[in-house]
This record gives sequence, structure tokens and C-alpha cells, in this order.
Amino acid sequence: MRVIEIPEPTRLADYESWPDLSLGVRLLRDEASRLVPLLDGRRVWMINSTASGGGVAEMMPRLISLLREVGVDTRWGVLESGEPGFFELTKRIHDLIHDSGKPELSASERELFVRINRENFDALRSFLLPGDLVVIHDPQPAPLAAMVRTELGNRVIWRCHIGLDRETERTRLVWEFLREFVSLADHAIFSVPDYIPRFLRGRSSIIHPAIDPLSPKNRYFSPRKLQGILCNSRLATEHAPVLHPPYRHPALRLAASGEWLPANEPEEIGLLFRPMVTQVSRWDRLKGFEPLLDALILLKQKAGRRGLSREHDRRLKIVRFILAGPNPGSVADDPGGKELLESLSRRWLELEPALQADIALLALPMASRSENAYMVNAIQRCSSIVVQNSIEEGFGLTVTEAMWKRVAVLGSRAAGIRQQIRDGVDGMLIGDPTNPAELADALDQLLVDPSRRGHLAGNAQRRVFDEFLIFSQVRSWLRTLVSVARANGLADRPRRPAG
Ligand code: UDP
Repeated sequence: MRVIEIPEPTRLADYESWPDLSLGVRLLRDEASRLVPLLDGRRVWMINSTASGGGVAEMMPRLISLLREVGVDTRWGVLESGEPGFFELTKRIHDLIHDSGKPELSASERELFVRINRENFDALRSFLLPGDLVVIHDPQPAPLAAMVRTELGNRVIWRCHIGLDRETERTRLVWEFLREFVSLADHAIFSVPDYIPRFLRGRSSIIHPAIDPLSPKNRYFSPRKLQGILCNSRLATEHAPVLHPPYRHPALRLAASGEWLPANEPEEIGLLFRPMVTQVSRWDRLKGFEPLLDALILLKQKAGRRGLSREHDRRLKIVRFILAGPNPGSVADDPGGKELLESLSRRWLELEPALQADIALLALPMASRSENAYMVNAIQRCSSIVVQNSIEEGFGLTVTEAMWKRVAVLGSRAAGIRQQIRDGVDGMLIGDPTNPAELADALDQLLVDPSRRGHLAGNAQRRVFDEFLIFSQVRSWLRTLVSVARANGLADRPRRPAG
């Protein structure tokens, strides 16, 4: 077990200088002033399996520094294992929860799972004080939940960030495997109600994932800064001098020759001028890129048909589409992603030149995380509609990100997206993400009506403000921590003073 320090803590004062965020900070401070004293000085330990890479590790420093700032002494511990087999096993557990992989977990795998966690427990017990609340994140450290609860008596929360909205042979098997460990936790937290396994119903609650409105992915940009990012990343061409030099790694776009060229070649896409419909996601079949590409082709064919207003006809003629994801180099270790991108590329290369000009397949470099985040931010901000056509979706942060930027979102009814978009209120949901004709119709209906888009987008931003920003997330954490700390009937070992 490694204790992780947080390099650059997020400060509430940074958010307070933004009028639209200061209310979020005030609500958090108010709630914290009532709740934190109820924790009675208990510390909180967050335990997960990695300090970098992946959504949980990315979110942890922010969550911990905000909890600390409102007065909860929160620490971060990361699981260690010298045996590669351990993380191979936990990857299989992760896949089984998502209904993929061989439905089998052996006694020797259970032994490895427990043994590595036992080694980590031996380190963790030397850090823990009686009364500390321990939060175990995801399946990798699940056995720690049982060890801490039964051997030390500290109260334990198991926070699971993954799940599937249905039961299958695989999910039953893996939950049966995990049950002996996680059922000993005092409480469990999931991201979406549909993901709670049967045996944890009734003692679980929901904390949604959340976005940081000041992160490079979500922060506001002035028009000049936005233009600068587009030019630096070659998503646009400079028409006047810009302050910063180009990024070392530009956004790439598939060209008719089959090569990946800077995205403003052979001509710029027109992000700041044309109506734009975009989807930015990992190259994963479950993100629904293939039916979306077919839908975009159908949508273009609607231009020129009888009965269109002159304005909508022009809109359909000039609208352009972006399908974007991480660049091919960085998906080298993701054979599924590479394969999908190749299949989309083949389909795109068969299109006639006019359609190739209107549909940009983009590969965004991942060499610099912040430049990548700026590009995603800029593309989302320049969109008339953001689509997330996922066949399955854990939560769908791309949806949250677009809603926060006040962009109309068209999503599928995948479990995570349904949590965010109320159909016709905060965006639109399509019935069948694999049906291009239905998708094209839904896009057409949204495109034709700018005032409806504006209305949906306004509600969307409000909904993210209320439910999916880090302030609401930290408030949910405080409520959960207090309710677990104060639950009657939970045995707790006597507390010694800290220090
Ligand atoms: N993303 C990114 N660069 C890309 C493609 C995706 O930064 O080229 C980000 C996207 O903005 C979002 C995250 O990756 O923040 C994907 O999270 P989501 O919950 O939408 O789906 P997941 O990939 O976890 O299934």
C-alpha cells in the first residue's frame, strides 16, 4: 500500500471567482458547515488500485482536496502488487462485470486475489486509526473491505464505479465471487441504480460521476483563446497571427489518400462557421460510431428535398460532422479500438468526395493530456449538436461535458445516458442507436429548430450544475460519510485520539 500525496490541490476560491460557480461553492460550504462537525474528527481513507491513468485516479486528487478543504482529513492509499497476474485477474473481474470474457474464476485465482490484498492490508493497518472511515474503490481492493471491517472494526464503504444494467451468466458469477468481500462493507455506492447487484440492494446509494468546470476539458474559453486552440491543434487555419506556436502533435484527419493529415488539410473543417454535429469518444464498437456514420450520410441526403424551408435546406447543405477519438498510435495496445477505426476508415474511403469533405474522421493526439483536453473542449464548444450514440454506456462523461457547455445533446437510452438526459427536457434520446434512419431523423428534427436546441441546452447546463458538478458530488460524499459514521448498531472499535 502506497500513500499518495496530492501535488496541486484544487481550491474552492478558484471557483468562487466565477459568478456561475460561486453558488455551487456556497451550497457546498453551507452543507459542509452542518455535516463536517457530525463526523467528529474521523479521518477518511480512500483506497484504489492506481495513482494515475483511468477515471478514478483522475478524479481522486480533486475529490480528496475538496474534502480536505471543507474540513475532512482525507488520505489516499493505492494498492501495490509485485505480481502481474494480480492485475490480469482484476482486469478479468472488470470485464466479467461488463459481461465479457471467460465465465470462470478458479480457487487459485481467489487465493491470489486474497493474498495480494492481505499484503496490502498489513501495510494499511499501520496507517489506520480507530474511527477512521475507509472507502474502498472498485473490485481490485474488495477483500480489504472485509479485512478492515472484520479484523479492525473500522466502518467501511465500498464504492463501485462500474456495472451493467442487466444480469447474465457472467455477471452472476463475478458478483458471487465478490460477494463474500463486499457484503461485509457497511454501505455501498454505485454510479447508476441499475448497476446495484441484488445482494447489495437496500444498503447502497448513488453518487454520480461529476465534472470539474475548471479542468482543461470543461473550462470556458474566450473566443480568442478558443480560436487559438483550434489553430494550434490545426483544427482551423490561422487567418491572422495567433499568440502561441502550433502544438507539437496536431489533430489528424483521414484524407482521401488514406493518410492521416493535419485536420485543416486539404481545407479547414469550418468549426467556427458551419453548423456542426460531433461525437467524441473512444474507438469502441459500443459507442455506436458505425450506425452514426451511416446516419450522417442519410442526413446529408435530406438536403434539397421538397418542402424544406430555404434556411433548413442551406443548413443541411453546409452542416459538417466530426467523428473523433484518440489517435491511432495511442490505440496500438487496444486491438478492438484499432480494428474499429480501420473499419470506419474503410467505409469513409468509399464515400464520394463531397461526403468525405463533410464528414471528418479525426484522431486526436494523446501525447499531451492537456492539449488533448483542450481539443475535445473546443470541438464540443463549437458543436450545434453533440451526439453520444452509445449502445452501452457506464455513465457517459462526454454527455455531461457537452451539457455543461450548453450544447444540445442527442443520446441513446444506454443506462448512464438515461441518468443524465430527460428526453425532451435536457436533450433528446433516440430509441435504437443501431438504426441510422431513426438517428438521421432525430438529428434533422433537432437541427431544424434552433430555439428548441437552445431550450434543451439551457436545461442541460442547469441539470449539470445541479447534479453533476464536483460540488454536488462532494456534498453527496459528505452525506454518505456522515450517515455511515453515525449509523446505529454498527460495532466500532473504541477510538484513540489522533496523532
Ligand atoms: N476523451 C478524450 N479524448 C478523446 C476521446 C475521449 O479526452 O480523444 C474523453 C472524453 O472527453 C471523456 C472520456 O474520454 O471525458 C470518456 O469518458 P466517458 O464516460 O464518455 O466514456 P468511457 O471512455 O469511460 O467509456
